[in-house]
Amino acid sequence: MKRLLCIFLTVCCLLGGCAKEYSPVEKSLWAMDTYMELRIWGRDAAEGADDIETMLRELERKWSVTGSGLLARMNGGEEVSLEEADAALLARLEALSRRTGGAFDPRLHSVSQAWGFYNGQYRVPRQSEIDEALSEKQWDLGAALKGYAGQEAARMLAERQVERAVLSLGGNIQTYGEKPDGTPWGIAIANPFGGDPVGTIHVSGTASIVTSGSYQRYFEKNGVRYHHILNPQTGYPADSGLVSVTVISRDGLTADALSTALFVMGLERGSTLWRESDDFEAVFILTDGKIYATEGANLRGCEYEVIAR
Ligand code: AMP
Ligand code: MG
Repeated sequence: MKRLLCIFLTVCCLLGGCAKEYSPVEKSLWAMDTYMELRIWGRDAAEGADDIETMLRELERKWSVTGSGLLARMNGGEEVSLEEADAALLARLEALSRRTGGAFDPRLHSVSQAWGFYNGQYRVPRQSEIDEALSEKQWDLGAALKGYAGQEAARMLAERQVERAVLSLGGNIQTYGEKPDGTPWGIAIANPFGGDPVGTIHVSGTASIVTSGSYQRYFEKNGVRYHHILNPQTGYPADSGLVSVTVISRDGLTADALSTALFVMGLERGSTLWRESDDFEAVFILTDGKIYATEGANLRGCEYEVIAR
């Protein structure tokens, strides 16, 4: 009887596709100086989560501005020989810097350091310190590495028996795969002024959704607020009339680098870059609370102006 049932179930599976519903494997960890949460569905979900944790630790070790990893040694002036993948990553960062007219600049570490943003010892530096820091051109991948990690994670999951995943990498969201009911993933955009999310972005399949905001890290001195996204031309916190920019892209590195760049560029220049491009969508929130979204951003749940092609 048992054997018959077994044969019956096997036949049903072959005919019907045997849609086994997995419960997600959930893992939280602290990496790259931020809290991360992985939620993965599928047969190899636990192995997939372990792969991702190993990759995150390796990226952190290699590209941290502190410690004795590759980036710290480069910043220390050491001649290093780069593996092909590392050279390719740095070349892509340089290309994104050129593409954004220098608004994304992966060599601002000394400037961030002068303001105390990298270790929390905040202060307003003198102009001479800022000028000197700008000239030092020390690497800092903080504006793009989590996005890169997201796309690497998606690539690793594709090599496993994993159906779908949502990864929150310190506020950067990486989706992988499709939801079983075919509906898009809904990703909430944080309200920079506090309270409930401003709205939800809908995206299907594998994508990166990354937000840069002046509310994410800042300090106040004599009634002035100084935040951590710097204008590479002045060395001062970017003052472009925005409080946050969210970028949606199939490519995590692009999403992360552009979220930072668009914050520096502001709504006008950011919209122009979007019109010249076909690899991202964006949502801009202005200091007065107005919201603008590019026509493919698929933002719902709030009122906004559409940025058209
Ligand atoms: P994000 O949160 O992705 O916008 O990245 C902000 C972090 O990137 C800062 O904390 C700095 O470490 C670094 N950063 C600040 N301004 C820039 C910039 N204009 N281009 C590249 N990296 C930057
Ligand atoms: Mg970024």
